[in-house]
Amino acid sequence: MHVLSGMRPTGKLHIGHLIVLENWIKLQNDGNKTFFFVADWHMLTTGYENVSNLSELTTTLVREYLAVGLDPKKSVIFVQSAIKEHAELYLLLSMIVPLGRLERVPTYKEQLRELKGRNISTLGFLGYPVLQAADILMYNADGVPVSEDQAFHLELTREIARRFNSLYGQIFKEPKTLLTPKLLGTDGRKMSKSYGNTINIDTNMKEIEKTVMPMKTDPARKRRTDPGTPEKCNVWNYHLAFETPKEKLDEIHYGCTHATIGCVDCKRVLLGNMKKRLEPIWERIEYFKTHPKDVEDVILEGNKRARNTAQETMKKVKSAMNLVQY
Ligand code: SF4
Repeated sequence: MHVLSGMRPTGKLHIGHLIVLENWIKLQNDGNKTFFFVADWHMLTTGYENVSNLSELTTTLVREYLAVGLDPKKSVIFVQSAIKEHAELYLLLSMIVPLGRLERVPTYKEQLRELKGRNISTLGFLGYPVLQAADILMYNADGVPVSEDQAFHLELTREIARRFNSLYGQIFKEPKTLLTPKLLGTDGRKMSKSYGNTINIDTNMKEIEKTVMPMKTDPARKRRTDPGTPEKCNVWNYHLAFETPKEKLDEIHYGCTHATIGCVDCKRVLLGNMKKRLEPIWERIEYFKTHPKDVEDVILEGNKRARNTAQETMKKVKSAMNLVQY
């Protein structure tokens, strides 16, 4: 199966991204043909006013992709803006997408509201689901790992593929949604840097402890002797996300429901597990910080491989649309 996904270079990755990336790594290691990119043009759709450190953020994101476990031998890791064919396909697709359809994208109005301090009433922002469709269709993706709130965009990509195919012949596949599980923020709301409820991947145990220890637990556990329900507790979700070993999970579940374990002890187990998981990532981040050439080589090689596939796709698209190719 061909799989494609990308992230915007908006700053440091947090543990919510880590869960997403682990899903990508699983897809990569399951023998799929995987393409993972840095969506720097997408960053511009809302952040075009501040580009002072965009290239640095782009390389930082690739460094963190590699540190977490994306493997350039198995996956094509590239930067969107280096593959000009994305812009070409975006332009061609934009010819067949009704304007009203874009205005009805739920996240469009929501983001206009949320980011009302920024001037994003732009063609680029309205058209970003078409750019997203171009990214996906370019690589013949059978599946795209997305969170539930992005699923609507993928539906639009399928619609665009169908419309293109019906106008010009069968060129594009309709990609399936591969739903990615989501982790809530440490305060139980949607995880977002603007809420201050995230934990950066490249932080340290002291900082993590400061965030985890005050996390709200099941309100039924007012006293240590009150039994609780792990499923009502966000700390439990973190245990699941950080793969606390099964026997330990069973022990915590029993301890919580029978009030034989306190929330502080429960959180300490979680912290131990987070440390185990994050320490090797920190080591790799440090390695790549001191070996920037390694990161650059990965990008150059990934760009080359992505460009080859993109050029193949564009040949087919242009031929289907009867565009001159010389
Ligand atoms: S024991 Fe653990 S799972 Fe149960 S309420 Fe406390 S922190 Fe949550």
